[in-house]
Amino acid sequence: MIDFHNDDGTLPLESNFTRKTLSATLFSRNGPRLLDKWADKIAKDALKTYGPDTIDLAATKLKPKDRDKLIARLRDIHGCDNAGLVYFINNYYTNEISLAMHTSATSTPEYAIVSYKNPGTIAHEYLHLFGAIDLYISPFDRGKASRKRKQVAMERFPNEIMAFAHRSIDSLDVSTLN
Ligand SMILES: [Zn+2]
Repeated sequence: MIDFHNDDGTLPLESNFTRKTLSATLFSRNGPRLLDKWADKIAKDALKTYGPDTIDLAATKLKPKDRDKLIARLRDIHGCDNAGLVYFINNYYTNEISLAMHTSATSTPEYAIVSYKNPGTIAHEYLHLFGAIDLYISPFDRGKASRKRKQVAMERFPNEIMAFAHRSIDSLDVSTLN
């Protein structure tokens, strides 16, 4: 089930990044916190399009974020157990990243931000929200053991979407590893 902000179709919600671009914001001081604020502002605007809210989140969460409220609302509307938040940015800058935030956190709602609108990337980021981990080697993989494990995974699962998201989605799959 996919819900594009409301049932009538796409409704673009405007919110600029604090540091102009997604990557500049992410890698600035307090980057993740600034991105969360950005994501919450959009969640708040998206919530408004669904009309008055009847869910009392205060009963379950001490300080529910707007992302919490939007996820709760979507679960309620669609009668489903979970909802994944994916933000699509209209980036003028072509050299941008896509990422998933807080995928192993329990206290703050996770979400993904997609810059490149190719199907492989969209599916890759969405899968992060359901527990899939990256299997490509990035500059953040400092440990030799972790790099080696990913190297092995990439060789054994040459079509794994968590390793090769930039390829055509028709050639990709979710391996038994994820
Ligand atoms: Zn990833």
